[in-house]
Amino acid sequence: MQVQSMHFKERAGQKLADARLQKNLKKLSEKFVTARAAAILELDDFEGTRNAAVERRNRALANLDVWLETFERNATARGATVLYAETHEEAARLIVDIARQHGVRKVTKSKSMVSEEVGLNHALEAAGIRPVETDLGEYILQINDNEAPSHIIAPVIHKDKEEISDLFAKAHAMPRKTEITQLTREARDVLRSHFLTADMGVTGANFLIAETGSATVVTNEGNEGMCTILPPKVHVVLTGVEKVLPTLEDVATLMRLLPRSATGQQISNYFSVLTGPRRAGELDGPEHMYYVLVDAGRTGLLGGEFQEMLRCIRCGACMNHCPVYQKIGGHAYGWVYPGPMGSVLTPSYVGVENALDLPQAATLCSQCSVVCPVKIPLPDLLRKLREKQWERGLRPWYETVGVAVWAYAAKRPSLYAFGSKVAVRVLRWMGGSDRRIRSLPVGAGWTRSRDFPAPSGRTFREMYRERQLGAQAGSTRK
Ligand code: SF4
Repeated sequence: MQVQSMHFKERAGQKLADARLQKNLKKLSEKFVTARAAAILELDDFEGTRNAAVERRNRALANLDVWLETFERNATARGATVLYAETHEEAARLIVDIARQHGVRKVTKSKSMVSEEVGLNHALEAAGIRPVETDLGEYILQINDNEAPSHIIAPVIHKDKEEISDLFAKAHAMPRKTEITQLTREARDVLRSHFLTADMGVTGANFLIAETGSATVVTNEGNEGMCTILPPKVHVVLTGVEKVLPTLEDVATLMRLLPRSATGQQISNYFSVLTGPRRAGELDGPEHMYYVLVDAGRTGLLGGEFQEMLRCIRCGACMNHCPVYQKIGGHAYGWVYPGPMGSVLTPSYVGVENALDLPQAATLCSQCSVVCPVKIPLPDLLRKLREKQWERGLRPWYETVGVAVWAYAAKRPSLYAFGSKVAVRVLRWMGGSDRRIRSLPVGAGWTRSRDFPAPSGRTFREMYRERQLGAQAGSTRK
């Protein structure tokens, strides 16, 4: 997927003006926020489980090379082939090569955000191989001209039933259905024929287990099972190198948090642990199994100030609770990962200079870090990215000059006091008779869509001085 993060402001403006999108995005708080709040109350010790999850993710990341080697050894012993890709392009090339080697013409895919990173569908199509998305949301996007997902666990959250009905009628050339059950039945019928005729299945992995050489895949539709158990003779697991965990017990701890944080479920409808290709005597499973483990910027975060971001288990809770994401949805962010986690991951993976607005696309209200099941300090990381932009001179000149002037004055109390007094008077004058400021010469972007009250009453400094004078008078009287 092409990086479009430099157009964030323009896209965000379009999304805010889209009444249909605004209505559809309300589903976020109605569905996910409420469901998560209820689900975590069921846990005896949510905070204790979170701390255990942080510890387990940190243990894995502290010795990532060791756990990856252990994983590779055990997966290979169970008959799988483990391949590493340094870049997105290399990952796509490896998968196309695997497909060619096995004479693959059609690939069924379970939902994988890494495959979006890699641009896998595009690479397969360019090689004459047909990819078919089988997660319902991803399938809807694919038949809508390969539209990008707008959420990491609910890719089609920005669409409503009517839009999907229209799309199905057009893509399937069938009478338009209006009931959700009719639409899912129709999708199931179409997808069933693809499951039965695909040569290769591609899935992501929520976690890799080093001690067993297995991949775990969580879905609510069971399509990952159809991609790996039905005919495909080849199964490729495409995921990031940071997904490895030492033990099955680690996975058990994280699984107490993942579905609850993501969809408010105690456990997802399907939870598969996949270990190697089909062995003698087994009735189903692929003949060949490959892992393509992608780096693409991940190991660059190890040992640095953004390492904590690698703990992310892709639950989506931070975006569900983000006041910015709730208003603009995922497409405005311009790459695979939206919301607060995307505003940290995108600049980290594609370069801070290619995603200038993303670290600013947050109110720093901290709700994201409050709900993050693995306690990633997202607001702190966003602040660090802002600092990086500043240090590298990537901010606009007016911001640089503004902060330099403010810093000069802030170090000189009498100058600061004089400046504040003048600024307050000017703002009061600008407020006019109704005391509302509707246009600011140095903040036109801000006042274009909102006004704000002119300062009124006494300033903080005046109140503070009065208080001190009052305290002094009181002590003299005693
Ligand atoms: S940053 Fe935290 S809340 Fe956001 S997707 Fe990752 S694990 Fe979930």
